[in-house]
Amino acid sequence: MRLSKAFVPTKKEVPADAQVASHIYMIRGGFIRKIAAGIYNFLPLGRRVIRKIENIIREEMDNAGALEVLMPAASPSELWQETGRWDKFGPQMLRFKDRKGSDFCFGPTHEEVIVDMVRREITSYRDLPINLYQIQTKFRDEMRPRAGLMRSREFIMKDAYSFDIDEEAANLSYDNMYETYKRIFTRCGLEFRPVEADTGAIGGSRSHEFQVLAKSGEDAIVACDSCDYAANVEQADFKTGAALDFGAGELKRVPTPGVKSASDAAKQLQVPESAVIKTLIYLADDKPVAVALRGDRELNEVALKKITGATQLFLARQGQVKKATGVLPGAVSPIGLSIPLYMDKELENAKGMVAGGGEDETHYKGVDVARDCGSEIIWRTLRVAEPGDACPKCSGKLEGFKGIEVGHVFSLGTVYSKPMKCDVLTADETSHPMEMGCYGIGVTRIAAAAIEQNHDDGGIQWPVAIAPYEVAVLPLQMKDDAVVAEGERIYQELLASGVDVILDDRFDRPGAKFKDADLVGYPLRVAIGGRGLKEGIAEVKWRNESEVQKIPLADVVDFVSKGIANAK
Ligand code: ATP
Ligand code: MG
Repeated sequence: MRLSKAFVPTKKEVPADAQVASHIYMIRGGFIRKIAAGIYNFLPLGRRVIRKIENIIREEMDNAGALEVLMPAASPSELWQETGRWDKFGPQMLRFKDRKGSDFCFGPTHEEVIVDMVRREITSYRDLPINLYQIQTKFRDEMRPRAGLMRSREFIMKDAYSFDIDEEAANLSYDNMYETYKRIFTRCGLEFRPVEADTGAIGGSRSHEFQVLAKSGEDAIVACDSCDYAANVEQADFKTGAALDFGAGELKRVPTPGVKSASDAAKQLQVPESAVIKTLIYLADDKPVAVALRGDRELNEVALKKITGATQLFLARQGQVKKATGVLPGAVSPIGLSIPLYMDKELENAKGMVAGGGEDETHYKGVDVARDCGSEIIWRTLRVAEPGDACPKCSGKLEGFKGIEVGHVFSLGTVYSKPMKCDVLTADETSHPMEMGCYGIGVTRIAAAAIEQNHDDGGIQWPVAIAPYEVAVLPLQMKDDAVVAEGERIYQELLASGVDVILDDRFDRPGAKFKDADLVGYPLRVAIGGRGLKEGIAEVKWRNESEVQKIPLADVVDFVSKGIANAK
């Protein structure tokens, strides 16, 4: 490609609504343009990056034995009603009516559609296992679209669905996808970690997210410093330490005027926040439940949702707390409650604690959980894992990271196949719902994640495998015929040797060409100038190195094509 004929509208200004590097550079580098919140045009460079990511995914999925299909973006409400998700999905699902008034949605995911496809065509165990995938546009009406392609409303996903005869076979399909994902993200040049993830609302038994480590990531992850245990904090397990003991004593109620939170109580009663039990009231599908944990800990709402089995979980408002417990939020007590009480395991056998007093503007001191809180407690791990917690698998410690979820593998069991009657006849002539797995990759999010991991103040540093072009050839003086001719020769020979190369044949100053090349992030740059020609060299520089290498003109093509091949 010749830059003079290309469509690469680079910009100097940082877009007003962009904060993170990937968003800023994809706009400035001429990769994408916003047309509405979370909805983007892909310009030619953006399209090329996405195409390269798609091709890597396609190759690896095909090698893993998966078969590519293409499902429609629009799907009828009837299918979603069969699994109850037409009602459950909530406002993330974009719904619309056709001219006859029938309900449709723009698919946020495709379990229902694929199950319908499979149940119509496959009935015998002889046709299983099967793994079907597509690379297709999804729409999720995200509450807060942000950071460009990182969380957009319209995005490209690779979604795959496996169908198996039984759990054992389904596990093999899962393992196959897990290994395939590792190869895909490695080939994309990403530094990532598979982490154990919540199996959440969809149900199912095994789930891993593939997280790209980046400061700008939205997900908190913990990983062991000595074994390979890693998990999303929503899912993370850890060993609980010794029982909390702040001294044995009598249970005493004391006035605490104005105290509204655990930290207020700690301040007023002059105890550490870890010596306070905070008791929160949640509405789990409209039923009040109490949750108690150490004052300085964060509740894991994902865990609570799973434990209570609730579809909707909300922190109760003041009036709702009063109705459920008779007191205002600050004074809710784990002692003498008439609603279910979930306690975080860390509080087991805790002594000498402070807790809400069960009468407005009071607290208890000297709480001995085993002695005072009754026997109906439901003990669970309810707090979020924190860096420094003890690894659940070995004697190591957990460290904290931020991650961008680029992929997710999920074992679904029969959650979809059962209600939709996607059955298979086994060898013994009995009929069972198929065991399923689903496997997503955020294709457009990978592009953003790659930039988050690979950039500097000048722009993007694409991994070679997903760069829009691998090499940029820059003739620095377009009015110098010898420079132009040498640039043209190198460009043509690189093209002929299969390198993905772009020639910057614009009549711009050298400084402007260098700046643009850095911004767009071509992995390798070959500069040809009048002075170099006299010396018989071209200046070659990798985008992510500072050193400029002077390579004899006769060797440039060989040097560049070998360098690129090695870096892929
Ligand atoms: P998130 O937790 O980030 O909202 P999710 O868990 O809802 O994502 P999945 O249903 O697992 O997403 O979808 C599979 C993949 O699609 C995700 O791993 C992610 O890479 C990508 N993805 C999901 N939502 C978006 C989005 N709004 N924008 C871009 N990519 C997305
Ligand atoms: Mg996910």
